[in-house]
Amino acid sequence: MTVIHIRNVDIVTLDEQGTIHHNADLVIRDGKIESVGKAPADLTADQTVDGSHHAVLPGFVNAHCHSPMTFERGWAEDLPFDRWLNEKIWVAESALTPDDVYWGAALAACEMIRSGITAFNDHYFYMDRVADVVEQSGMKAALAWCVFGIGEDAEIGPGLDGTAEWIRETHGSANGRLRTFLGPHSPYICPPEFLERIVEIAHETGQGIHLHLAEDNQQIEQSLERYGLRPVQHIDRLGVFDVPGGCVAAHCLSLDADDIDILAAKGVYIPHCPITYMKLAMPFPPIKDRLAAGVNMCLGTDGPGSNADMDMFAVIRQAVLSEKYQSRDPESLPGDTALRMAAQNGARALGFEGGAIEAGAPADLIMVDLDAPHLHPLHSLIANLVHSAKSADITDVMVDGQWLMRNRELQTLDEEKILQEAEAHAQSMVSRGMKQVRQYKA
Ligand SMILES: [Zn+2]
Repeated sequence: MTVIHIRNVDIVTLDEQGTIHHNADLVIRDGKIESVGKAPADLTADQTVDGSHHAVLPGFVNAHCHSPMTFERGWAEDLPFDRWLNEKIWVAESALTPDDVYWGAALAACEMIRSGITAFNDHYFYMDRVADVVEQSGMKAALAWCVFGIGEDAEIGPGLDGTAEWIRETHGSANGRLRTFLGPHSPYICPPEFLERIVEIAHETGQGIHLHLAEDNQQIEQSLERYGLRPVQHIDRLGVFDVPGGCVAAHCLSLDADDIDILAAKGVYIPHCPITYMKLAMPFPPIKDRLAAGVNMCLGTDGPGSNADMDMFAVIRQAVLSEKYQSRDPESLPGDTALRMAAQNGARALGFEGGAIEAGAPADLIMVDLDAPHLHPLHSLIANLVHSAKSADITDVMVDGQWLMRNRELQTLDEEKILQEAEAHAQSMVSRGMKQVRQYKA
């Protein structure tokens, strides 16, 4: 049995009542939160941590990303979405190897832990190698091996049947830290019969589906032309939203009222990735209206090829600012709602417990140093965290009671080696990638 006692700490619980404790105790026993507020007088702890001048809050969940795309950070700049894919991303990926994916994801894991992310929802290739990174890092993740269904040449890896096999072996491994989704790329690339086959496999294996959906108006027009239906309605007919493990549909930028009703009724989770939308000049969805309609909104960094970093404090802040600005309504997205989108809504999307600091929850949490100049004075902890805190203020990160970072030092990953290897693999990959692997048309 391991007992960790964090003393004198401010705790932003993000529980139902939004409780905040000041100078409080947090007790963690065997990977779970045992008590919040005042520790029992006779507590004997294996480790006591002084939390003075720090806040504890739930770990962030990055609800949509492509972690190995750290390799394409800064590689495809100032381009519209179609040229970004066709001329840069899908050319570099023609040279992708499993080792590239491992080092790209390891680099992302270093960055994500430093940014307070305890779990991530990944959608990419060679997910068996990303699973290695999850095992070693101590993070939690839901992994989707991306498949296209347009011929073997376009796939990277074993194709749908091979990835289904991998899912059977992987789901629930690493003491439950690893979960999986089926990963069709999107309805604008994947043919309907392929999506139907994926729905069948999801029912056979008890899995969910993570895909991209309705990213711009051209995709809506294309879907209407091909199928006579908008993308949301098209994949609803195919059963994509009715699979046992639920559906995560990234982006959903162009929706009408019927689409929103379907997504709310089917409990679909929508990761909102504001920095990608701004960087690629994509349409912006109104968050307040979606939340009011009952849609499950969560937050993601997206891939570093489009964002270009994996900084959740930046995502939270940009989500809030862009929503207020777009709606011309400063009340449209309060700070604690944004923090909940980043924590518990994300955890639910991935199928993990937690997202709040409360007794019985897994000890997935971060500590933030409140002593930086930009965090004084302390009138409102929520306001300071949402509008002033930076990733560099995060000192400690814990998952299931295990420290992944202590005093800004990574505990589970060899960061120096990862930086070297990732740099070398990234430079090599982009110089080898010569042909375009598939074509985006909208
Ligand atoms: Zn994406």
